[in-house]
Amino acid sequence: MLDIEKIYKDAGALLEGHFLLSSGKHSPNYLQSAKVLEDPKIAQQLADELAKQIKASGLEIDTVCSPAIGGLLAGYELARALGVRFIFTERKDGKMTLRRGFAVNPRERVLICEDIITTGGSAMEAASEIEKRGAEIVGFAALANRGVCKREGTERQAECKLPKDKPFFALADFDFPIYKPENCPLCKAGSTPIKPGSRGN
Ligand code: ZN
Repeated sequence: MLDIEKIYKDAGALLEGHFLLSSGKHSPNYLQSAKVLEDPKIAQQLADELAKQIKASGLEIDTVCSPAIGGLLAGYELARALGVRFIFTERKDGKMTLRRGFAVNPRERVLICEDIITTGGSAMEAASEIEKRGAEIVGFAALANRGVCKREGTERQAECKLPKDKPFFALADFDFPIYKPENCPLCKAGSTPIKPGSRGN
């Protein structure tokens, strides 16, 4: 079994400080998943481990689909590890769409894969694009999740948007503290949150 937290830390993908999340909440930790995937060998190891879990579940999959950009590398590697094809959805004018000549067949069994899932919002947008075309969403996967959408076999929190009747596979639950701005102890201590990505991270 891989030590996922150590792999993320060693890659500089698990940041510590005071971060403003896209949800508007604050956290002392942030996962910069792209950093862990910059080494193709590690990307392959992580995807192989995730594929092992998915294969062990007996779930049958024809295609992996990821929402771009975040999910591309994880989804591509996972498709390779599962021996299935890979497609992606992307935002055009803010709306998630399937472009570039990608198509799905009716009843095709599609797994949605992200690098990291918080509430699963983008994953669900990708899923509805695929379902609209008659294919079947058989499950969801991510390298890691932020503790809202717990992995298969554990209880999901109310904010999780993933459907309860579909499996969700992930290598690790990174259950970081998340605070509303008004309750954030880091703000109370006088520090200002950083929006990840805004200062070169
Ligand atoms: Zn704060």
